[in-house]
Amino acid sequence: MKQKWTNWGKNQSAVPKGIISPSSEDEIIDLIGRGVANRWKIRPVGSSHSFSPICVTDGLIIQLNAFNRILNVDREQLQITVGAGITLADLNTELENLGMALPNLGDIDSQTLAGAIATGTHGTGHKYSSISAAVIGLRIATGDGSILETSISQDPDILKSARVGLGALGIVISVTLQCVKSFNLKGVELTTSLNDVLERFDAEDMRSDFVEFYWYPHTEIAELKINNRTSDPPNNGSRVARFLNDEVIRNVAFDCLNRYWRYFPQYAPGTFNRTLKIGSTQTRIAPSYKIFCSKRRVKFVEMEYAIPRESLLEAFREVRKITESLDTPVTFPIEVRSLGADDIPLSPSFGRATGFIAVHVYKTGDHRKYFDQVENLMREYNGRPHWGKMHNLSYEDLSLLYPEWEKFMMVRRRLDPDGHFSNAYLERVLGY
Ligand SMILES: Cc1cc2nc3c(=O)[nH]c(=O)nc-3n(C[C@H](O)[C@H](O)[C@H](O)COP(=O)(O)OP(=O)(O)OC[C@H]3O[C@@H](n4cnc5c(N)ncnc54)[C@H](O)[C@@H]3O)c2cc1C
Repeated sequence: MKQKWTNWGKNQSAVPKGIISPSSEDEIIDLIGRGVANRWKIRPVGSSHSFSPICVTDGLIIQLNAFNRILNVDREQLQITVGAGITLADLNTELENLGMALPNLGDIDSQTLAGAIATGTHGTGHKYSSISAAVIGLRIATGDGSILETSISQDPDILKSARVGLGALGIVISVTLQCVKSFNLKGVELTTSLNDVLERFDAEDMRSDFVEFYWYPHTEIAELKINNRTSDPPNNGSRVARFLNDEVIRNVAFDCLNRYWRYFPQYAPGTFNRTLKIGSTQTRIAPSYKIFCSKRRVKFVEMEYAIPRESLLEAFREVRKITESLDTPVTFPIEVRSLGADDIPLSPSFGRATGFIAVHVYKTGDHRKYFDQVENLMREYNGRPHWGKMHNLSYEDLSLLYPEWEKFMMVRRRLDPDGHFSNAYLERVLGY
């Protein structure tokens, strides 16, 4: 019987010919050959945490769970080569044991390394870049079933494109990363007024390492998160208090409330106003990855756009107006982050200091009207959508937003000219 595949957000599903976890490179090559011979499309899939239909296929799904080991460590250069299917959670622990860390991370660590880099997964910090920017070498099985090694010294153009490859260039088997020495972060979470955040955000962002904020729709309340590198030792505070905050309030209670708000969304703003205390602050010092990442158990669907950093707060104010004008109140906070420019052809931060605005809807909610309006606004700012999150753009729009679009397409034509790794989503966003 065919297995059904669904993504984390439960908004995408597929019934592929098979979901296969190969255990060797030879098996990967055989699978590519089998797919090509049968005219089945082949999709490499990680932890299925993308909201967009980027993984959906009725062909073969290949998951590299077995490719999760450390393959080489260069302690002097702080470089590590790992199996591409390792989860970020396991990678972070391995790196800590080696005295290393990734320079920056996103909100969670459940993704595979290959999945995270394929979509340009990012955190925040104007001096920093996405996880993809830390990639300095890749081993890829390509459309003709051959294995290609690429690094900054060997075929650098391929490496550059494959850093954010959308799973369109082949199956990434291993990844070499430029890490940094492990470091602690002092994380401050401040609940304050939205006006206060909007007044302070630019200055805090410039002054600090990693700054982001969440706004609770239909209220004046926002949460400002400021994480700075520190040489101070870990100070985790009370475990019980953290469990109550991270698990009980942010996950269990928030999920229960969203189930209730599904029928009575008009009560969401009042609940936020009663439970969030303006002026409250939480401070914690811990190894970087423990501050960057947290558990997200409440299921939602998300859209995120990257726009020029200088327009970030203006665009946020416009998103706020859209949110306030909707018939149904929004029950999920809006997330705002910033990131430095990079030079990766399909990275949403290509060539410009970037601001990100992310909107979310509880898993059972109807996101269309909300997301469509925000998307129309983002287009006015030349917004580039997150490849792993919801959006409606196609290659006609996207090719105009990425100055090095053609460089990526040249690499794709070289590595997978016949589109063996394609699917309907890639046909829409890449043209074949
Ligand atoms: C709760 C939650 C929180 C999130 N937080 C953030 C965040 O803070 N910042 C952010 O930027 N994004 C975030 N995301 C989005 C997420 O990081 C991306 O969608 C990411 O791509 C998911 O990784 P994955 O391993 O689940 O990959 P999948 O979703 O399974 O696949 C994503 C892409 O990777 C490709 N791929 C997977 N494995 C391979 C391989 N071996 N070789 C080649 N290609 C491969 C697939 O083909 C596909 O194109 C979040 C998502 C969720 C659900």
